[in-house]
Amino acid sequence: MSASVSAQGRPDAAPEVRHIVMLSGGKDSTALALYLREKKPETDFEYLFCDTHKELPETYEYLARIEARLGRPVVRLASRHGERGFDHFLKIYGGFLPSPQARWCTRLLKIEPFERYVGDDPTRLYVGLRADERRSGYISTKENIEAVFPFKDDGIDKADVMRILERSGVGLPAYYEWRSRSGCYFCFFQQKGEWVRLRERHPDLFQLAKGYEKEDEGYTWAQEESLSELESPERQAQILERERIRKERLAARRRPKTLAQAYGFEDPDEEEGPACLICHL
Ligand code: SF4
Repeated sequence: MSASVSAQGRPDAAPEVRHIVMLSGGKDSTALALYLREKKPETDFEYLFCDTHKELPETYEYLARIEARLGRPVVRLASRHGERGFDHFLKIYGGFLPSPQARWCTRLLKIEPFERYVGDDPTRLYVGLRADERRSGYISTKENIEAVFPFKDDGIDKADVMRILERSGVGLPAYYEWRSRSGCYFCFFQQKGEWVRLRERHPDLFQLAKGYEKEDEGYTWAQEESLSELESPERQAQILERERIRKERLAARRRPKTLAQAYGFEDPDEEEGPACLICHL
């Protein structure tokens, strides 16, 4: 980047690069923040969280734990329309719920607030994709943002991530007891079993999620069925039974290779279908 020239004709000092770790409330981005703090203590990292205001209570609790361990605040970024961002955009989209094929929520509630916050500052964004993942990460459309992947560069895999979290005392977010990913309580990437458990753990949030659906227009969160259909006792039992059988089959197909697998922690990226690279790291 060429230095600009000041009004006095002197070249301005090159603008300082900002170093940003965007936390999702998930394990990998958290481990990355902890890892970088130890590896590069001289770097002035900024920690961000794009708050959709539709997150799980466990996520907010986890962020507080991360802040305490890092000794630095995690800046919460909201969309242009603040707390009501999701509902505002939903209205603009005529009630058309986001889905894996039409993921307007990630763009408007995660990417846009981040890019607005950074502005034109030269920025290095540290992304928590691990060495054992096949996914590709955030691709910036802005020239001033460079995405870097320290875990990929340093060969950090899932077992390493688990060790970093355990050693730091931060551990895993509490929602991992019943759900495999960070993100909004109504995230459409949830598996059917996770919807059942959302209903058990957070009946109020399940009801709120249900309130967004318009069955007669075909706007539902989960594929091929509404939450009202999904919550019938027979259907819930069927979903959980199918999930149990699938897990048993998976477990039988492989011997535990990593600490994470040994503790029964599933790999959501490989076994639970697609995920959002911004919301679920
Ligand atoms: S967590 Fe899911 S619903 Fe929320 S912004 Fe990300 S992709 Fe959209």
